[in-house]
Amino acid sequence: MATVNINTCPVCSGKNFTDFLVCTDYFVSGEKFQIKKCTSCGFKITDKIPDEDSIGPYYQAEEYISHSNTSEGIVNRIYHFAREFMLGQKRKVVVKNCHKKTGNLLDVGAGTGFFAAHMKQHGWDVSGTEKSEDARNFAEKEMKVKLVPAEGIFEFENNTFDAITLWHVMEHFHNPVQYIHEIKRILDAEGKLFIALPNHNSYDAGHYKQTWAAFDVPRHIWHFAPAHVKQIFENNGFSLTKKYRMPLDSFYISMMSEKYKKSKPAFLKGLFFGAVSWVVSICNKDRCSSVIYVFKKNQSSR
Ligand SMILES: [Zn+2]
Repeated sequence: MATVNINTCPVCSGKNFTDFLVCTDYFVSGEKFQIKKCTSCGFKITDKIPDEDSIGPYYQAEEYISHSNTSEGIVNRIYHFAREFMLGQKRKVVVKNCHKKTGNLLDVGAGTGFFAAHMKQHGWDVSGTEKSEDARNFAEKEMKVKLVPAEGIFEFENNTFDAITLWHVMEHFHNPVQYIHEIKRILDAEGKLFIALPNHNSYDAGHYKQTWAAFDVPRHIWHFAPAHVKQIFENNGFSLTKKYRMPLDSFYISMMSEKYKKSKPAFLKGLFFGAVSWVVSICNKDRCSSVIYVFKKNQSSR
């Protein structure tokens, strides 16, 4: 397998790293991966990641397709309720920050197209990119939204979009800075960028350490804390305008982490520590399991 070793920190350009944690890929392969830490800014990076041509098999157990549209059974009902709730919350965040009820939106890494379809139903003109062909086919057939492959981002005209969204996507990119440049090019001067990312400064990350489900190696290459997100975008011509908590992620990630620890009863323990994380995040957004960041383009920069 061809691997990539990242030698330069994309946040501060530092070149010195120390070992941070060894994490297991609980989801697919069972393999172990080292997470290293930039000694200058503290940013965490998964070491020796499979390159873009080799990482495909590590996504094979992704359950997105199997989360079918059935709402039978209590677990599916909770899942569907949570998904609908989050779609509505994300739309409200977009509408409020764009000061527009409709407009042109691009969802990068749109998956099976649930958010894209939701925004389309609410009158937005929606485009979406997605790397997985299976997910694109599902989106077209079941959600009636046409997504283009990931490289499609390079084809959009300058200043096209009022809103660009990346919901839990950027941590997967091999080349995040290249994406940030493209996003800046195609975002309208008055447009807003919305990024959701796991937060390894969260209470639940600190509690679960190497079994924290959102480390999700090797699929998650970059492990952001709020200060790193702000810095990497500021370095590339954006300003942070707002942050939001994603409280449901505290529960979801805690339950997944308990499952990885093989604790019993995983559901109840996850619920308890999810609730602790949720309470901590009420006092401090920067401790929430996942955070939504809103950015605008700096007008002075090119
Ligand atoms: Zn650094």
